[in-house]
Amino acid sequence: MNQSDAGSTGDLKALLADDDPGIQLTLSALLEQKGFAVTTVDNGRQAVEALSADSFSIALLDIRMPRMDGFEACRAIRELENGKNLPILMLTGQDDTDSIKKAFEVGATDFVAKPINLVLMGYRLDYILRAAGISEELRKSHQRSRYAQHIANLGHIEWNPAREIVHCSEGIREILGLPGQSALSRFEDFNEFVHPEDRERVDAAIRQALEAGDALDLEHRVVRADGCLRFVLQISESRPDSGVSGHMVVTVQDITDRIDTEKRMHALAYYDDLTGLPNRSLLIQHLDQLLKGAVRYHHKTAVIVFGVDRFDRVVESLDHPAMESLIRMIAERIKLTCRECDLLSRQATDDADDEGAGYRQLTAKLKNDEYVIVLSAINSLQAASVFLQRLMEEFGKAFEINDKEVYVTTTAGISLAPIDGNSPNELIKHAEIAKGFAGEQGSGSFRYFKQELNDQVTRKFALANDLRKALQDDTLEVHYQPKIRLADHSLTGVEALCRWQHPLMGAISPLEFIQIAEEEGLIGELGNRVLETACRQLAAWLAEFDCDFGVSVNLSPEQLVDDQAMQRIVDLVSGSPIDNRFIEFELTESTLLANFDTSLKTLERLTSMGCGLAIDDFGTGYSSLSYLGMLPAQTLKIDKSFIHQIEANAQYTAIIGGIIKLAHSLGLTVVAEGVENDAQKAILSREQCDEIQGSLVAPPLPARELADWLRDRENRKTYPESAVDESGLDTQWRRNFSTR
Ligand code: C2E
Ligand code: MG
Ligand code: MG
Repeated sequence: MNQSDAGSTGDLKALLADDDPGIQLTLSALLEQKGFAVTTVDNGRQAVEALSADSFSIALLDIRMPRMDGFEACRAIRELENGKNLPILMLTGQDDTDSIKKAFEVGATDFVAKPINLVLMGYRLDYILRAAGISEELRKSHQRSRYAQHIANLGHIEWNPAREIVHCSEGIREILGLPGQSALSRFEDFNEFVHPEDRERVDAAIRQALEAGDALDLEHRVVRADGCLRFVLQISESRPDSGVSGHMVVTVQDITDRIDTEKRMHALAYYDDLTGLPNRSLLIQHLDQLLKGAVRYHHKTAVIVFGVDRFDRVVESLDHPAMESLIRMIAERIKLTCRECDLLSRQATDDADDEGAGYRQLTAKLKNDEYVIVLSAINSLQAASVFLQRLMEEFGKAFEINDKEVYVTTTAGISLAPIDGNSPNELIKHAEIAKGFAGEQGSGSFRYFKQELNDQVTRKFALANDLRKALQDDTLEVHYQPKIRLADHSLTGVEALCRWQHPLMGAISPLEFIQIAEEEGLIGELGNRVLETACRQLAAWLAEFDCDFGVSVNLSPEQLVDDQAMQRIVDLVSGSPIDNRFIEFELTESTLLANFDTSLKTLERLTSMGCGLAIDDFGTGYSSLSYLGMLPAQTLKIDKSFIHQIEANAQYTAIIGGIIKLAHSLGLTVVAEGVENDAQKAILSREQCDEIQGSLVAPPLPARELADWLRDRENRKTYPESAVDESGLDTQWRRNFSTR
């Protein structure tokens, strides 16, 4: 191997492989004259060795050489890292077209035929070097752009109007996690990687962009070949330079990291660092939305501020990590008591002096640990107190930290939307005030914001507990109120009405305790108790007295929609000692219409057993006779509030007359409720009302007194001279009622 660098610029290096010393000499001279440092070798093997050891700007290889010919050497050089883009000039024999063809096949850049024309060879060298320079520049620029695209997680893809992919960059394959040579030939091949839920949207956007030449700016998900989910951004502009309408160049950028960062930022801005619960800002946003919906649907919402009392004292003996785990446990315990639809948020500590302070710094001076809980769409005012009762019970249990048992006490305040306010801030503030009042009563208590509400709820709460106890001790009673037929004053039945004599508060109105029973889930048991007692009592009366009358029992809507409760009623009816036709169920009109379909099915089940059905309190709800015509009812009871108007208001008489006619046309028997005097009775008689119930006949009476009443009627039948007034009703009972 000979090296000469006479006259070289120091940068250009040529490798000349030829076994002909003459050619070596002349070409070396030419190359040196062009500024190359020349290395000459005698065969292909030496050429490959030289290139393995050093880099060159050009290689000139004779085809015919000993040990390794030019073809083999060229092929081997192309395998080398520094030989891939090296300009290789093959020296061939004159008109040796086979060799020329083969030279190109093995990767030669150009050829020169022997004998060599040195003048032309000089130009050719210039040309080859210039072309090599340009292609090197291009290669570098391509590499730079690939590198930049790689850094930016960017790729680009080109579609023609037929949605064929005419170009797809390496970056696209990287984004989709495809191996280097995988072919993407149509838009559909790309769309396969789009997340199934986004596919339709992406497809429509590309179609629109291709057809209308619109720009594209689209974020969507892709599922990479390895199953990983990534977020990408597709951007395109219509390409006027492409000359073909609908031709699209789209850049696709993997923006997963950006989205993750956004999510992290969102979490930092809206969530409590320690518990992962929403912070006050997010709570206010959600609560605002919820309140708007609540107004639309007339829902009640309770906002509760719940806190651990003197948290600073609780954590006095705990180190920092222990305090943090206590907070997490507290949050978890609240979360477990909440329903999924409730909102729960941890209040960033209120004792921070400087707003920008980091969380850890804040916890150091944390005095309170406070949470806001929002109960949405609650059906009663006590829902919040029932919830808090449960929550505070949970907080009665110890927290175990570092093998130590930590006990806490809690206090809470409740505000209700819409009565206590309509904006999140107002409601939270009022709940905080209420919590303050609760704190004055001592730990472990809670309060409503409004005093009267507080009294009301406290009373309801106490009554609910006492009612549960009354049911357990079986101290509820059943009273009976008779109904009579107007035509002949005969007794048609008695209505069983539940009575509760509270040990301290005296008689509680059914209007109050029935509602509590419904809200507390006690109505099923209460109703069954009344039904059972009434049936047993009626059996006794039917055996004792010579008359034929039934008993009406009121049903609550809750009893109709619960299958189990319904089954229990069916069982009680089947097992009762009286014929089913003596049992009638009363249901108020408004509750029936609210759950029409469910109610209808259940009621048909009862009537198919032979029981009667009466629509109670007609006139207080929608008064929809057309709906009622679809129910299997035989009786319609006009509400007492209507009856009480008829004397004073002729219009009511007309309305009642109309209702009676319509009810008769539907085959219904009409009962007027709450008839208190003869004037009402006379009007009802005139309007063809069938039956009346009310104090004029008799008030609801304990079983023993009703038995006396029945006995008295029997006596009057036997002794017609006994006291009966002009209306045919017994004066004694009217006297009794007026003194009650
Ligand atoms: P209701 O079924 O409409 O019962 C008739 C109500 O009118 C009774 O009220 C009765 O005492 C009252 N009343 C009777 N005659 C007169 C009168 O001449 N003048 C006036 N002003 N009122 C009269 P009560 O006993 O207070 O019951 C109220 C409601 O509570 C009942 O209305 C019924 O809906 C419900 N209720 C009572 N017991 C039960 C029960 O065992 N189960 C269910 N689900 N509800 C019951
Ligand atoms: Mg009733
Ligand atoms: Mg009624």
